Amino acid sequence: MRSFLSHLECSYCGATYSADELHTTCAQCGKVLLARYDLQAARQHLTPEALCRRPTTMWRWFEIMPVRDPANVVTLGEGCTPLLPAGRLGERLGTDRLWIKDEGLNPTGSFKARGLSAAVSKAKELGVKAVAIPSAGNAASALAAYGARAGLAVYQFMPQDVPEMMRKESFQYGARAYLVQGLINDAGRLVRERAARKGWFDVSTLREPYRQEGKKTMGLELAEQFNWTLPDAIIYPTGGGTGIVGMWKAFDELEQLGWIGPQRPKMIVVQAEGCAPIVRAFEAGRRHAELFPDAHTIAPGIRVPVAIGDYLILDAVRQSGGTAVAVSDAEILRDMREMAQWAGVFASPEGAATLSAYKRLRAGGFLSPDDTTVLFSCGSAFKNAELITPPPLPVLDPHRPDVLDMLD
Ligand SMILES: *Cc1c(COP(=O)(O)O)cnc(C)c1O
Ligand SMILES: [Zn+2]
Repeated sequence: MRSFLSHLECSYCGATYSADELHTTCAQCGKVLLARYDLQAARQHLTPEALCRRPTTMWRWFEIMPVRDPANVVTLGEGCTPLLPAGRLGERLGTDRLWIKDEGLNPTGSFKARGLSAAVSKAKELGVKAVAIPSAGNAASALAAYGARAGLAVYQFMPQDVPEMMRKESFQYGARAYLVQGLINDAGRLVRERAARKGWFDVSTLREPYRQEGKKTMGLELAEQFNWTLPDAIIYPTGGGTGIVGMWKAFDELEQLGWIGPQRPKMIVVQAEGCAPIVRAFEAGRRHAELFPDAHTIAPGIRVPVAIGDYLILDAVRQSGGTAVAVSDAEILRDMREMAQWAGVFASPEGAATLSAYKRLRAGGFLSPDDTTVLFSCGSAFKNAELITPPPLPVLDPHRPDVLDMLD
């Protein structure tokens, strides 16, 4: 197996860079760098049949992944997650075309595993010894796990109200964790300003070119799971936008490989009403989003008030004929429970937000029951257990003769 990675290209000004040295953003314009591959050559080596014979991790796409030497791959078995028919949840909503991609089954409980497996592998290949990350929690956990496996020093900077489980994970994985007064963008600035002096490689979302290469494998998998076609719509809980941008890129690469045609799903962004910079920019017809003031929501992964890849997210949404929707925290909490009760999926609040968006788009007529639609359940609610507050349970005394009468 070999990778057909050829170079890095700026998504904004087109400047090119070597893919065999460390880069973060474009040195010319400061925007997002994309990994480019020699897809015409890759076409000769990668076939759907070859893919089927490989171990079931996202690295089975090695020819169009950014690591040159397979020995540098740092894997915990990420990717190849199930695409579940929504089943009873679909019936309840009057459709048999609703699907859930359950990303909560990834190592460390979220799709961040894909991005960080790719970024850590490439960093290791390029000789990095220490990595730093601003994170709402899941990215930090994933970096801690992959960093531990690779033997890198990991520095994490998270908002003060980061979910308890993420703090436990960083401790257990041996990462150095700090809480920052402010949100993820404040943590990001802190890392950027100190990374060079401290000798850290900054793996912030889309400020490092390879996390999105990991996340693009979600798009590759969808194509495979739909037998080399694509669904009509994808609803994605959007924070930094790595997944939308990565999947959009994946579809182009698959078309150039000759595996799919030009049809594309409507790419649909869902954000929380308390933090909806991309939704605002979409509605205002702008290509860049403004910082969203006083950002707040119970869904930490989408509490991202500003994203460097805003133009890439908005381009994908517009070019695909998609849309952008904001949903309330109350809808998110309701739909976390509904996904669990009707589909058996223990979804994080961000994942549940896709169901809230789906309902709104069906009610408004943007989506119909005939549209094959994929909801991205991006993480497991095991990470957000504090949002789930069951009532006290009845306690039974097994020695009482009437104990069974207490059961309903
Ligand atoms: C990071 C995260 C998101 C946002 O993903 P992006 O691809 O960065 O937009 C959504 N949900 C969860 C659970 C996350 O951890
Ligand atoms: Zn540039």
